[in-house]
Amino acid sequence: MFYRISLCLQQKVEFMKDLKALWQAVLDKLELTVSNVSFIMWFKPIKVLDLVDNKHLVIAANTLSAKNQISRNYFDKLSTAVNDIFGNDLTIEVLDPSEEIEYIKLHGEQAGEKEVEVTKNPFNAKYTFNNFVVGNSNQFVYAASRAVAEHPGEKFNPLFIYGGVGLGKTHLLHAIGNYLKEFSPNLNVKYVTCEQFANDYIESLGSESKSKGVVEFRSKYRNLDVLMVDDIQFISKKTSTQEEFFHTFNELYQNNKQIIITSDRPPKEIETLADRLRSRFTSGLTQDIQQPELETRIAILRKKCQLENYSIDDDVINFVAEKINTNIRELEGMLSKIYFLANLANKTTATMEEAMEAFDGQLEEDRNDGTSPDDIIDAVCKYFDITRQDIVGKKKSKDVVEPRMIAIYLISEILEMPLISIGKIFGGRDHTTIMHSRDKITDQLKSSIKTQNFISEIRKMLKGG
Ligand code: ADP
Ligand code: MG
Repeated sequence: MFYRISLCLQQKVEFMKDLKALWQAVLDKLELTVSNVSFIMWFKPIKVLDLVDNKHLVIAANTLSAKNQISRNYFDKLSTAVNDIFGNDLTIEVLDPSEEIEYIKLHGEQAGEKEVEVTKNPFNAKYTFNNFVVGNSNQFVYAASRAVAEHPGEKFNPLFIYGGVGLGKTHLLHAIGNYLKEFSPNLNVKYVTCEQFANDYIESLGSESKSKGVVEFRSKYRNLDVLMVDDIQFISKKTSTQEEFFHTFNELYQNNKQIIITSDRPPKEIETLADRLRSRFTSGLTQDIQQPELETRIAILRKKCQLENYSIDDDVINFVAEKINTNIRELEGMLSKIYFLANLANKTTATMEEAMEAFDGQLEEDRNDGTSPDDIIDAVCKYFDITRQDIVGKKKSKDVVEPRMIAIYLISEILEMPLISIGKIFGGRDHTTIMHSRDKITDQLKSSIKTQNFISEIRKMLKGG
């Protein structure tokens, strides 16, 4: 019924009308299954972008934190509603606003509504150096990023930034990009996620004339003044992509062009990385971002209030900063939620009342407290009809290996247990093996309906459904 490719304009308009109507029906369903606040904050602003080959639904959340909330806490509910309405096993891809722009650039806007926005500066205007709060945890990485923005190709090359999720890596890359756009507008600057680089390359191989595709790809990437690659840990084992990246890297490096790379772990812990790339990555400056200490968290929240025009009591700011101490994205998400609750209650300033309400809601939504690793292992064994000895043991047959990886993924996701402890549960496996299993499932979840179903079914079992 729906095909993205080769539709005439009239069909396209019809297509989007139908798609929007279907999405509205999904929203109507969701509204019944999630709380009012969650619905208004996360789901209502979603834009439906595309349905590819009747199999893959692409939607865009209105903020990064909305995307994270949806993917993390509401994905099951979302898939259920989507599959009820579309009557089909769809994979769902949730984009954040910058990914949305990138997506539209690549695929075009179905209804042609947003073409204007697409040519804009690709860097998020909020992610600037000015808006980046500097503290002990990030002062060196901040200084290095600034130096690189001021003297691209001359100071630290490559600059390799690593650190946990939500600690500001992407923010810094955009800050460098925004700075360069303003002060060195003639430089050719490109920001890509690792995945985009790989897709771009693979697409070039599949173009009509393979050699022409690759030539175009190379002229795009090798004539840059600054290349930023975000989340390099996702570089696949696919040797051809690594090979291409290696040559891109060398070409730029030899011409004193700036390369900046981020990762959630240091180069030595990226298992799929070829040694020669690893040594390239560490040949410049490798700098980590750590978790922010309390003072920095408070300062970040204050900055956020100022940027978003939130009026929030100091008590609330201190309370939130104390409660959430790892991920800045979550810190900010909680602040928005609290402010939103105040708005709902027609208050101009958010107080502890809303803070308590927001935290209570969070606890309810997470509801992980009762689940243990054993519960997860039992559920996985039951689902796949295998034994506990099999799953924690050494068997390497496919019918055991996949459930084992899924159990590892779920324990890591739901319980946020350290990799080393998970390794112990699984017969003393090494933490890198555990990490590999977890990452493999994370990867599969992006494209495999089968894996998505396994995970959502087992999650349902865990919730007693
Ligand atoms: P990462 O890429 O490391 O996962 P992001 O760069 O996406 O993390 O940061 C997550 C959120 O936290 C963003 O909204 C970002 O603006 C904010 N953030 C992170 N570090 C800081 C900081 N030092 N000052 C202000 N905001 C920050
Ligand atoms: Mg990031």
